[in-house]
Order: sequence, then structure tokens, then C-alpha cells
Amino acid sequence: MSKRLLTDFVPSNYQVYLDIDRQAKTIKGITTITGDARQKQIAVNQKFLKVDEVTVNDKAVSFQVDDQAETISLAVGQPGAVTVRIAYHTDLTDTMMGIYPSYYQVNGQQKELIGTQFETTAARQAFPCVDEPAAKATFDLAIKYDEQPNETIIANMPEEKVVDGVHYFKRTVKMSTYLVAFAFGEMQKKLTTTKSGVQVGVFATKAHQPKELDFALDIAKRAIEFYEDFYQTPYPLEHSWQLALPDFSAGAMENWGLVTYREAYLLLDPDNTTLDNKQLVATVITHELAHQWFGDLVTMNWWDDLWLNESFANMMEYLSVDAIHPEWKIWEMFQTSEVPMALQRDATDGVQSVHVDVDSPAEIDSIFDGAIVYAKGSRMLVMVRSLLGDDALRKGLKQYFQDHQYGNAQGDDLWDALGKASGMQIGDIMHSWLNQPGYPVVSASVVDGHLKLHQQQFFIGAGKDQGRLWKIPLNANYDAAPEIMGDADIDLGDYQQLRQANGQPFRLNVGNNSHFIVKYDETLLNDLLDHIDELDHITQLQLLQDLRLLAEGNQVTYASIVPLLARFKDSHSAIVNTVLYQIANALKKFVEPGTMQEDNLRQLFDQLSHHQVERLGWQPVAGESNDDQLTRPLVLMAALYAKNQGAMQSAHDLFEQAASLAELPAAVRPAILQNEAENFGTTELFDQLIHEYQTATDPGLKQDLCLATTKVTDPELLTRLVNQFEDASLIKPQDLRAWYRGVLANNAGQQLAWDWLRNEWSWLEATVGGDMEFATFITVTAGVFHTPDRLAEFEEFFTPKLDTPGLTREIQMDTSVIRSRVNLVESEKNGVNVAIEKAVH
Ligand SMILES: [Zn+2]
Repeated sequence: MSKRLLTDFVPSNYQVYLDIDRQAKTIKGITTITGDARQKQIAVNQKFLKVDEVTVNDKAVSFQVDDQAETISLAVGQPGAVTVRIAYHTDLTDTMMGIYPSYYQVNGQQKELIGTQFETTAARQAFPCVDEPAAKATFDLAIKYDEQPNETIIANMPEEKVVDGVHYFKRTVKMSTYLVAFAFGEMQKKLTTTKSGVQVGVFATKAHQPKELDFALDIAKRAIEFYEDFYQTPYPLEHSWQLALPDFSAGAMENWGLVTYREAYLLLDPDNTTLDNKQLVATVITHELAHQWFGDLVTMNWWDDLWLNESFANMMEYLSVDAIHPEWKIWEMFQTSEVPMALQRDATDGVQSVHVDVDSPAEIDSIFDGAIVYAKGSRMLVMVRSLLGDDALRKGLKQYFQDHQYGNAQGDDLWDALGKASGMQIGDIMHSWLNQPGYPVVSASVVDGHLKLHQQQFFIGAGKDQGRLWKIPLNANYDAAPEIMGDADIDLGDYQQLRQANGQPFRLNVGNNSHFIVKYDETLLNDLLDHIDELDHITQLQLLQDLRLLAEGNQVTYASIVPLLARFKDSHSAIVNTVLYQIANALKKFVEPGTMQEDNLRQLFDQLSHHQVERLGWQPVAGESNDDQLTRPLVLMAALYAKNQGAMQSAHDLFEQAASLAELPAAVRPAILQNEAENFGTTELFDQLIHEYQTATDPGLKQDLCLATTKVTDPELLTRLVNQFEDASLIKPQDLRAWYRGVLANNAGQQLAWDWLRNEWSWLEATVGGDMEFATFITVTAGVFHTPDRLAEFEEFFTPKLDTPGLTREIQMDTSVIRSRVNLVESEKNGVNVAIEKAVH
């Protein structure tokens, strides 16, 4: 383990002076750090900095730069209070890390907006610092830049004064280095104030219409008001700025007082957007604002407790959106997004646990596994919330904030606070979930007349059973079951008596808030299916979702699920339809393109969707339910996959009639554009889509255009497209993965995309290799492949890269993900195809 620098040097204040020249692409800096030296020799972090001079208490000293360790070491003479001044220079580069430019156009004119991204370890690229989350200090930012008229600069704190072109910002509160942020350039903004007087603002480039900022402003204001009330702790700063950056690697970043976002996650056209896009943007904003307390005010001590930040924010985003827009039933969306993501990934042997030991910067970046740290983590906290109830949760949180504000904490500090508030041994239960990877399948069966439960780790693909046990909140609907199941086996007693006394089918994990799946035996499953229409939508979803996972894990056959689908096809519930089509789409891997089997599957899609298409039609209807709004895109996409002639014609007509693409209703626009690209994909259309992509400013429209364009089938057009992957003036590096994935998932383009990835790997590494999202190019590849040939090619290419820092786990995981899918297809395809044929004939 590399040594923490904080052990030897505890900074209390940084004076950060920066002079940034966009034209020359240079940064000059002077950082003065006041702190307490605990040793004669100390070190601070730096990366890519060219150090010109170091003084200690105004005396020049010699220093050693270690680029490998990312440090500058220096002798301070005697331990005690010291002032270290470091003068340096560096380049302004396009890495989307540290201080970097975003590029955009207004009326054809090229512009730049400078922003920052310091999490996890990139503050050291901007200024020398003890770049560890526990090294909290105050920061005085002073920034000069090649300023033009109409430009503004914003930062964590309000600006205090401008002297000789240098912008001075108020001293920050005590905070971690990775949360420092600033941005400058031409910006538009919208402002409002919360009930408690916090100034809330949304900032964006002037490429956007002003109305695109409105939705975010409303959500941000209401989210801060919600959190101040829920946490019983005031928002600690004067302002909360939300800034959309045209180039941004992650989704958003919770810098204290200046949250940065991908444009697609902050801005939307309120006159033409989908409900799910609104929900997505709202949850991103509420996630980042939850961090202003949980993460920023109280920060994890070290990155091994990253889950403390992310799991919590990921739960709170739903809690607050549910309070702001109860009619959205956002917890239902949790069931179709985070839940399956966590259950799928967490079933792969070799997955990381939520709490994970980390050391080097590359390792730190690699633990941001969205399905684990975010999705599974949030599910852990949903489980905690349902055990504790909101009163104890709020009481515990208030105490936690009081005890650790402007400081740091570890997981157990949270469990202590929540344990005291609830009188429950919550830490004891949660350790079994956070420190072990994976999760259990609980089998419920009637054996010799007794209802018996058994827990065992659930695997998709090969897995080594190590006898892991979890403390499972069972949430059974029969009182005979205990609240927590800690043993491997339980006997609940005589089944017939229990069934009669309870008057309803036996169910586990009611509400689907605990992180396990249930395998009912035939008796219990049939009982449930006989009463399926009486059960709520979450239970219906859960039943289908668990069956799909059991099929992926070879515990039931996929073929046995096929006949069940028709029973749910006319549901008016968006989440039931979502899981229904998740399963239907999962069947595509079992059929080969251009075969009879594929025709049968298309027919199955037609049978599943055609009543719903008739019911819902191609145009959104004023006043229709949220469920109908969310169901329509699912069934239209299904009808198009089915090659339903009526659907294809309707989509084509709507395309022809629209005066502009921006005018197409956002809810049906992806289906219309994809139909056009797939079935009417001429060169002229291709050029039009590319041109629209280049000029559109609405992030939602841009995403639709990206997805549609990758669906063209003409090899010549696909070749042209792939040849433009590296043209940053067309496809921003932040968006490249979506384009790559789109072409890879297209049968006509897969070879091209895959060849591109392999041939251009060094280019990709040089372009986005430094950012945290790099490994996801491997993840999306593994998400598509399902044949033995592709598995062999994947292994041939990636196995030699296993030692690349930050990629090791992802390559191992993804190799087993593809392998288990290949094996599944091999063992199940005959049965599945027979079942599909039977269902459609
Ligand atoms: Zn977060």
C-alpha cells in the first residue's frame, strides 16, 4: 500500500493562484499551502506539473519530483507550522480531467468553456496538494485568464473582488481537494432562491435556448429545500450552481457549490421531452445535490468507503424525486433500472464487494462500478431504510452530520448513528452485504409437506460456491417467516396449514426491497401464477425479473418463461411492460439473423405488442397516464422489430410529414428515426441525420440521432460512420462510446466496430485512457457479444492487456460475462426456439 501523504503533512489552507491562457494552452500557477508538518521531509501530490520553484517559509528549498508516485518531496527543516509555496506551469489539455476546455459552437463560431473535473485524483493536475479525501482544508482561489468581454467565471464560492484581472473568490469552508471546481467562458444563467435563502443557479453555454435551463432550476431548488428538511441540516454554502459542460466524461460531479453535468443530464427542452428523460435529469440533479451533504459536508475517509458517498446519493435521488414529483412513482423506475443492473452484475463471480480495499489512483478509478457501488449500494440503503423506517433514518442522519460535518467518516460511523437512532444492530446486518460480493437466491419449496427456505449464493455463469451466507431481510407475507434469515436453512412448518391460515400464495421479498432473488418450487410458483392478476405491479415485475435471472443462471429454462410472456402483454403498467420487453429482448441472442427462428421471434414480438400499439397509437395523447406515456415507446419499438408493416408505414409517414426532426414528439422520435435509418436508410438520409446531429443543441434529440444513425444497414454508410469516430468535431470523445455501442449492436456493423476498437485501441487509450469511463468500452463490448467466435477474439485481444492498471477486473469480469452467455445460448437455444415456435403457431 502506498503511503498516505496526510500522515506527514496536514494542510489547513491553500492559496491557489492560476493564470490560464486558452490561446497558448498553458497554465501557470502558484500554490501556497499552510499546514502542519509532522516530519522533516514531507510530500504533496502533483501530476503533469512542471515545478519551477519551491519555498518553505520564504526560503527556496530543493525538491524531488516523482512522476510515478505523483508527488513532490521536500525538506521542511523542522516539523511544525510551515508555509510551502510552489510555483509551476503546465499545459491545458483535452483530457476531460483536471482543468480542461469544452468545445462548442454558437452560430457556426467555435467557442471554448473551461471547466474542471478533479474526482478522483485530478486536483493534483491543477495545483499541488495533499490529494486525499481526508485532507480537508480551506481554499482561497484566485484566477486570471485571457478574458474577453461577456465572459464570466464561477467557482465553489462567490467572487469577492477583481483586481488587475485576477478574480478572487471567498475562502471556502473546510473541504476535500476533489470537490474544488471553477469554470469560465461565455455562459447564460437562470437564478432563483430557496425558502431558506440559498441562491440556486443553472448555467449553460449560449448554444442552448434559455428555456432548456428551466426544468433543472425548478428541480434543484426543490431538491435543496427537500434535503434541508429531510436531513434537518442547513445547506452549508451561499449558493448552489449547476453547470452544463459540453465535454464531460462522467454523468455529473458533485463539486461543492458548483455541480457540473453532462449537458444531456441537466438541460432539456420543456416543450418536447419524454417523461423518462425528465425523470432521468431529475434523478441526476437530486443525486448530486444529495452529495452536498453526504459526500461534501461529511466525506468518506478513504476511497474504500466510496460506497458511503455513492450508494447513499443513489438512494436519496429517488427519495427526493419521490417527494418532489410523487405522481411519477419514481420508486417503480428504481425497480426497472438499478435493481436489474445490480442483480445481473452482482451474480458474476469475481465481482467486487460494495466495500472494497483500494490503493493506487488507477485502482480508485476502477472501483466506480456503476452496477455495484451505485446500483447495488443504493439497494443496500433501500434495504436499510425499509428496516429502520424514515423517522429513525432521519434522526440517525442528523446525528451523523452533526458528529462529522467538515470532517470524514467511515461506514461504521453511519451504522453507529443509525443503530443509536433505531436501537437496531444495523451494522451487523449490513456487514454481511457490504463486505461480501454477490447475493443469495432463496429457494422456497414444499418438502415432505413442510415449507422450507434455503439460501445459497446465486451465480450467472461459472461460480465458486464458498458457502457465503447473508443476513437477509425476508419480508415474507407469512408471519411464520423470521424478519432476518441468517442461517442456510429454515423450516417454516406445515405448508397446507400455513397456506390456509394466510389465505394467499406464499411470497418473499414483498416490495422487492431486499437484495436477493427467490426461486419458488413448482407448487408455490403455480399458486402465485394462479393469482397473478390480484398481485401488485412490483410483485408481477419481480416474478418475471427473478425468473429471467434464474434462467440466466441455468436454474430454470428460458424456454419455460416464453409462454408466460403473453399473460402480461396487455398490462397497463409501465414497469411490467419494461420487464416483459427486457425478457423478450433477451431472447434475441438465441436466434441467428436471417433464419426461420428469427422470423418466429419477430412474430412473437408482434403478438406481444399489437394490441398495445392499437391502444396507444403513434401520437402522445394529452392527459394520458404516465404509465401509458412510458409504455408507448416500448411497444412501438417491439412492433418495429416485429417488422409490422402498419407500424413501419406509420413511422415512415410521420417522418415524411414532419417539418423538422426537432418537431417530432420526443416520445416517439427514437422509434421513427430508427425505423427510417433501418428501413429507408439512403445516403441522403444518412447525410441528413449526421448534419442534424452536428447542429442540434437539444441533448435529447442528439441522443436519438446517434442511436438512429447507428442503425443504418448499408455497409458503405457504416464504413463512413466508423471512419468518422475519431473526428472530434463530429463525435465528442464523451459520446463516442454510445456511437461505438450502437454500431456494434447492429449486425451489419458489428465487424466494423469491433475492428475499429481493436485497431484503434492505442488511439482510444491516448484520447480517453486517462478518464474513469475508459473501461466501459470493454463493458459495452461484452454486453453485445454472445458467440464462441467473438469470445475467442475478445480473449485474444484483451487477455494480453490484463495487467493494464485499472482494467484488470473489468477484463476478467467481461470475459466471464461473455463466456457464460455463450454457454447459455449453446445450452438453451433449441429449447427456446421450440418454445417460441409453439407460442406463435
Ligand atoms: Zn455520486
